Amino acid sequence: GRGRSWELTKVRTTCPHCGVGCQQWLHVKDDQIVKVTAVEDARPNLGMLCVKGRFGHDFVGAAERLTTPLIKENGGFRQADWDEALDLVAGRLAAIKAAHGPEAFCGVADVGGVNEDAYNMQKFFRAVLGVNNIDHRGRACLAPQATGPAAACGSGAMTNSFAELEKAKLILVIGADVTEDNPVAGAYIKRAARRGARLIVADPRRTGLVEHASLHAPVKAGAEVAFVNGLMRVLMEEGLYDKDQALKRAADFEKLRRTVERYNPEMVAAVAGVGPELLVELAHALATTKPAMLVHALGPDEGARGLDKALAYADLQLLLGNVGRECGGVNLLRGRGNAQGLADMGALPGFYPGYQSVGDATARAKFERAWGVELNPKAGLALPAMFEAMARGAVKAMWICGEDVLAAAPDGQHAARCLGALDFLVCGDILPTATTSLADVVFPLAAWGESDGVFTNSERRVSRARKAVNPPGQAKPGWWIFREVARRMGHDWPSQSSREIWDNELSVLAPALAGVTYDRLEGDGLQWPCPGLAHPGSAYLPADACPGPDAFHAVEWAPPADEPDGR
Ligand code: SF4
Repeated sequence: GRGRSWELTKVRTTCPHCGVGCQQWLHVKDDQIVKVTAVEDARPNLGMLCVKGRFGHDFVGAAERLTTPLIKENGGFRQADWDEALDLVAGRLAAIKAAHGPEAFCGVADVGGVNEDAYNMQKFFRAVLGVNNIDHRGRACLAPQATGPAAACGSGAMTNSFAELEKAKLILVIGADVTEDNPVAGAYIKRAARRGARLIVADPRRTGLVEHASLHAPVKAGAEVAFVNGLMRVLMEEGLYDKDQALKRAADFEKLRRTVERYNPEMVAAVAGVGPELLVELAHALATTKPAMLVHALGPDEGARGLDKALAYADLQLLLGNVGRECGGVNLLRGRGNAQGLADMGALPGFYPGYQSVGDATARAKFERAWGVELNPKAGLALPAMFEAMARGAVKAMWICGEDVLAAAPDGQHAARCLGALDFLVCGDILPTATTSLADVVFPLAAWGESDGVFTNSERRVSRARKAVNPPGQAKPGWWIFREVARRMGHDWPSQSSREIWDNELSVLAPALAGVTYDRLEGDGLQWPCPGLAHPGSAYLPADACPGPDAFHAVEWAPPADEPDGR
């Protein structure tokens, strides 16, 4: 049974299911999560939870959970103890490094894990294996998405906060099914509309938000850039843009003007399916109600031209003068709960934690001093390039954490051939998957609710994810596994808990997180940038964080790689 209230203990944590990062109480009886309720009055959800957050926790106690390390033998798996499995992995990785060098490795970090797991994984690849070939599944969607806000405001994250959605005067939602994918954020948008905010939804479908919208633009899938360029053309023709922004970025402004010139209303109608009258009405709405928050999400951004869309959205918001302001900005909604954290932690081929480039000699020297090693200055392979390198035989070993890459790959058969051709594949997961079935060694991971750490939500809010129950069998947190293999390869890392990793390493090495400590995370978390212990965190990224004269990207529309069909 679920237990009487006096039999339950309560542990506060962060929902893992989407980028809103709602605060929850896990109610525990007999080492099992029996109920989940919302934390009242806590940001970001203020007592709300969606059905996923309230009921989607049965994976934690699932009968199929991996409970011991597994070693492949004669085509099947046998159970092993930790020492044997860790020794085997350390030995094989050392041998492969000696024979083929560091470039023979690549890794995929666990988007379901805590930040400390990702931190130790990227540290293991960089400091122990000597390569920057580390990435995560966000490559297919979040990486292009993040480029838009990065271009607009120097940072690959939501520029503003969920709380601002409720106060916004105008919200433009492009290609985001918010009430389905980020339901609590959707609730904020619906409340804003009920309060009288203008809501514009640009989406080929009638999503749940459309019935709350003042205007619906049924932009054809893949035509978002043409639509946005068309809006910008109207704004420029009628002089309805932010003149200060244009002056500051004069050269780029001219480039933008020339680019959008051909996106006249007839062309936009033909390509995007939005008629001239509606286009002008939308442009006027954007020009007269300021600031406006632009919200976008995974769907359209996952296509081959996701990057173009993200840049076009940033251009539109800059042109309107909506960047660097409260209730404005470019706001991408993350899918998985800690997808933002994975990028922040440097599970990226070009960046150390805190978006410090591996090519930047000063940043590299700092990490070399901290980790006591010489680091590879060459940017690593992103996920698609990893598979290309595997197909060429250039990669010999891979470590995949918490990710069923075969299920997620656009071409699963190709991915299976690549993984099958490796000399050595290590997987960590909570459940057996198609990908773990190909591994030489499988490590059982502690799941959400079974280990301590930190998540980062879409609005850059760093919140605690807490251990409420024990992992099944011998399952362990990801950060511990990397530390143990590193030790067996001659690297004794000092941090012995997720708290020590965060407080003693991460917050010291990533300037935007310098003021974020476990002690300060006892309440509602902190939004980075939070550069010092007295800093309250940043609800939105201010104008002075935004780049200067090269800010307009002037993106051309090109037809999508896959044409939508009648459905
Ligand atoms: Fe979890 Fe997202 Fe639902 Fe909040 S909105 S409860 S974070 S799935």
